[in-house]
Amino acid sequence: MAGRPKISELERFMSHVHKDDSGCWIWSAFCMKNGYGLFSTPIKNELAHRVSYRLFNGQLDARDVMHKCDVTNCVNPEHLVLGTRSENMQDAKAKGRMCFGEKHGRSKLTNEQVDLIKKSDKFQKDIALEFGISQGHVSSLKNGTKWRNQGFKLGITQEGNYHR
Ligand SMILES: [Zn+2]
Repeated sequence: MAGRPKISELERFMSHVHKDDSGCWIWSAFCMKNGYGLFSTPIKNELAHRVSYRLFNGQLDARDVMHKCDVTNCVNPEHLVLGTRSENMQDAKAKGRMCFGEKHGRSKLTNEQVDLIKKSDKFQKDIALEFGISQGHVSSLKNGTKWRNQGFKLGITQEGNYHR
């Protein structure tokens, strides 16, 4: 049959992946406010790292897909491992990912990300897009103003997806 060959899910997925020098596969498509990449199909949105796990490592179950590398928008299947939610939380706590604005689980920037944002000389709107946060949020980080409370207002609309 003539016409455009159908692009497989894997090919489409990989077209959004930027392989970083660090070994991380950085998700270059849409990222949510909590930093996780989102893989959209006409049918549904899926968390990119979960899709990666499914495509490369096999079946998912009720457990979370956790990042060994701590890069929330990394989708390298070798950096992903299944863990329970409480393990995930403990892991995050242990790694200091939960220190700020985290009370309600709505501000998901890591210390490293905040640092990157502060040092970045990209346009604020580009940074906002990259990290899935508002431009105002970027601006407040850059100006060093307290964003703890603003973080609460941002919220996460895909909470359901996130918890699976
Ligand atoms: Zn990684």
